[in-house]
Amino acid sequence: MSNNSKSGGNSKLPRPKFSIYWIYAIIALAFVGLNLFYSGGGPIETNFQKVKIQMLAKGDVEKMVIVSNQRRVDVYLKKDRIANYKKDFESTNSYKSPSKAGPQFYFSIGSPDEFQKSLDEYQKTLPADKQVTITFDNSKNWTGDVISILLYVGLIVLVWIFLFRRMSKGAGGGGGNIFSVGKSRAQLFDKENHVRVNFNDVAGLDEAKVEIMEIVDFLKNPQKYTELGGKIPKGALLVGPPGTGKTLLAKAVAGEANVPFFSLSGSDFVEMFVGVGASRVRDLFKQAKEKAPCIVFIDEIDAIGRARGKNANFSGNDERENTLNQLLTEMDGFGTNVGVIILAATNRADILDRALLRAGRFDRQIYVELPDLNGREEIFKVHLRPLKLDAKLDTSFLAKQTPGFSGADIANVCNEAALIAARKNKAQVDKQDFLDAVDRIIGGLEKKNKIISQDEKKTIAYHEAGHATVSWLLEYANPLLKVTIVPRGRALGAAWYLPEERQITTTEQIMDELSATLGGRASEEIVFGKISTGALNDLERVTKQAYAMVTYYGMNKELGNISFYDSSGQNEYALAKPYSEKTAELIDSEAKHIIEVAYVKAKEVLEQNREGLNKLAELLLEKEVIFSEDLENIFGKRKGAKEILSVKPAEESKPAELAEGTSSVEESKEE
Ligand code: ADP
Repeated sequence: MSNNSKSGGNSKLPRPKFSIYWIYAIIALAFVGLNLFYSGGGPIETNFQKVKIQMLAKGDVEKMVIVSNQRRVDVYLKKDRIANYKKDFESTNSYKSPSKAGPQFYFSIGSPDEFQKSLDEYQKTLPADKQVTITFDNSKNWTGDVISILLYVGLIVLVWIFLFRRMSKGAGGGGGNIFSVGKSRAQLFDKENHVRVNFNDVAGLDEAKVEIMEIVDFLKNPQKYTELGGKIPKGALLVGPPGTGKTLLAKAVAGEANVPFFSLSGSDFVEMFVGVGASRVRDLFKQAKEKAPCIVFIDEIDAIGRARGKNANFSGNDERENTLNQLLTEMDGFGTNVGVIILAATNRADILDRALLRAGRFDRQIYVELPDLNGREEIFKVHLRPLKLDAKLDTSFLAKQTPGFSGADIANVCNEAALIAARKNKAQVDKQDFLDAVDRIIGGLEKKNKIISQDEKKTIAYHEAGHATVSWLLEYANPLLKVTIVPRGRALGAAWYLPEERQITTTEQIMDELSATLGGRASEEIVFGKISTGALNDLERVTKQAYAMVTYYGMNKELGNISFYDSSGQNEYALAKPYSEKTAELIDSEAKHIIEVAYVKAKEVLEQNREGLNKLAELLLEKEVIFSEDLENIFGKRKGAKEILSVKPAEESKPAELAEGTSSVEESKEE
């Protein structure tokens, strides 16, 4: 800490910290040093002939040393003669200069004895003052060996570190330090880094809130529960589809309880290295215990909590299982009164390991479902708060327009609506902007420049008119909201329904919906006598639905009340089907039969209402977008229709603008 602080205004002196660059620097230095060591004044190679003629004959040689185990002879020149040989050194191009101490030259020999014999003979021809002494050096040259070994080791270490860093970075970043791979990656929100979300920001989810509010109370007044002998739960599992506010709820708990909050995702435990996941779990719990009382939130826990395989050789997921085992152990390991509560979220509770769900671990499961009408209205209210709204905007209308939307979708609609209004330079966001935003979110971007020929356009118009007609005339099909032939996203045209919010669906409802979905293809067949690829999406949905009726819902007489649905997710990877070949054949033929019946019905409806179908298609070709009002004008009021919401823009807007602004959706979002 003796350094003066550097410019830059950082008041804290940087602590000397181990960093990877130190290793790089050391290795680089070693290379430079070695290079110098070898280059500075080492001997250069020559041969015996040259030594005899140029050096010995002139009497320049002081002594010669036979390094016998390397079959080499070192030549030491007389001090005053060295300068004469400078030229030899320059011509070698090796930047070496002759060393004073010697040896200056060396040459290789076959066998030391032979060499000595021939040298002795030669020396005999020389005058006494030119003769040199010959010594033997039998020692081994260790330094060279040691240095080259070190060099190799250094190189391997360097490569290893480099790879290690690359891998840990690729897997989410190890903080740039190889020693922190096993550290938990949890993000900590505490006093400095406060969570500003509270229960007011979470709309709807009333039951979930009550359950989770209790957890806040545990953390605030643990005595109240422990005095009575109760145990504070260790964890709660939030289960529900994506975007329904699970993370938000966990954050709100932390914000309300005013305790530190560790947030991480299940995939943060996963790394390429064996044992890292388990080590991260340990580290997470260690940190959490230090900060207790606190909340640990693990999002997407299914990344590690998936049921462990029965066949260890087959699963190949040892690392994930180790991580899960560690998590189970840690959750058992801490006492109930430590004040650490684990919240976890998943949208696949069915595939979680049963050990994770047993009492004493995630004691409570809190279901967070897609919001219903009231829930959506409340969520809209939360997200409309920051927007400048048209005074006439009705939130209940918006909620009705967005069946099947999650909280995240609604947040997205609000934001998108504001952006659309801004693009149109409006001072306030109005109803039309919201409708456009909803269209945009379900249907994707409008593609006005898609090249569509007149014939194709006609086919699309009749296809969509087919959907519209069948769904309008069949009692149990979903009520239609609007139809468009403006291409959007990947769809060339779309019919947008407003599904009823119901919890159970009857066979009649499914059958009518199948007919409506097949209405497009039926219309093409009736009108043009040929079919097209445009019905791909319809057929896919119909097929899935028909198979679900037979294999899951037991809605088929031939098969009876049988369901092969697997809510535990255990058989997801099973190789064998849970039924016989014969049943498989029956399933196929029954699904085909269901689709056939629905198709025949669709054709029947269209043939009986051919005139209306034509009118509708012509209207579509003319206006590109039509609404439920237009259908009512053609076919009359719908059977069993309840309330039809008008999404038709106000009269003053021109039809051309209309077509641009309001397109609709291929399918309802309801599953
Ligand atoms: P997940 O269930 O996938 O964890 P999130 O909690 O991350 O979903 O929700 C994503 C976003 O959706 C939130 O940041 C919030 O803006 C919005 N959101 C979801 N549910 C609600 C809700 N009930 N009330 C208010 N906003 C919500």
